[in-house]
Formats: sequence, C-alpha cells, structure tokens
Amino acid sequence: MSTINVNVVTPDGAVYDGDVEMVSARSQNGELGILPGHIPLVAPLSVGAVRLKYESKIHLVAVNGGFVEVRPDSVTILAESAETPSQIDVERARRAKERAEDRIERAKQEEIDYQRARLALKRAVTRIEVAGE
Ligand code: ATP
Repeated sequence: MSTINVNVVTPDGAVYDGDVEMVSARSQNGELGILPGHIPLVAPLSVGAVRLKYESKIHLVAVNGGFVEVRPDSVTILAESAETPSQIDVERARRAKERAEDRIERAKQEEIDYQRARLALKRAVTRIEVAGE
C-alpha cells in the first residue's frame, strides 16, 4: 500500500513524524481526507483530532489550530500545540474543560471572553477524546 509522510510540528518540536496510508483533518472549510498523491494545498485547521491511518488502525493526534500543507508525497501540520494520546494529561484536560465551561456559563451574565473560552473548551474536549477517555 502506498504511503504519505506526515509531520506534525509545534513551537516545542516535532510531535509526530511517520508514513501513513491516510490523513483526515478538519480544516476551517470542512473535512479533508488526504491520500498519497493528493493535489498540493495549504489550509487553516480547526482545533480537533487529526486521524492517521496506518497498520490498518486509526491513530489520533490532538491538534490545536495552525495550518496543514499538503504535497503529493508529504503532509506538514504546523500547530500551536499538538499531542499524541500518551502525551496527554487527562486530569489537566478535565480541569481545563471545567474552567472553560464555567467561563462560558458566566459569559451569559458578564461579557467575558466567550470565544476564547469556547476554544479552550474545544482543546480540552479534543484532548480527552484523543486520550480515549
Ligand atoms: P491548560 O489550560 O491546561 O494550559 P490549554 O488548552 O490552554 O490548557 P495550550 O495553550 O493549548 O493549553 O498548550 C500549552 C502547552 O501545554 C502545549 O505545549 C500543550 O501541548 C500542553 N498541554 C496543554 N494541555 C495539555 C494536556 N492536557 N496534556 C498534556 N499537555 C498539555
């Protein structure tokens, strides 16, 4: 089976580098399914789980925003932060989720930063999902 090289890079360094059969990622314009030989493109990513298919299984990476650059033989994801399941501290993500939910609840009364809290909630929920919890 043909493969495509995937690199997930953050300001703290590489989080994933390997050859996969397929990449699925949520761009801000919709879901992207990337197979080897895909046409080149650059797209902004939403906060969410990136799915990598190899060895007949789906492996998840939590990705916080950034961009995906697709070339026929490689995919580069430049993210503000990203974690594989073993790198995720689930308790920390649960605390972040509670904080964000609390801020969203209070935002109904006070005009605090609602969008910021929504994004923090999305990061936390993605981490909990990717960690398999
Ligand atoms: P928190 O409020 O817990 O800091 P956050 O969503 O604001 O969460 P980010 O700004 O996205 O955190 O990330 C800051 C750094 O902390 C990044 O290096 C990211 O990989 C790491 N990080 C954040 N949450 C977790 C987690 N639950 N487990 C492991 N690493 C995490």
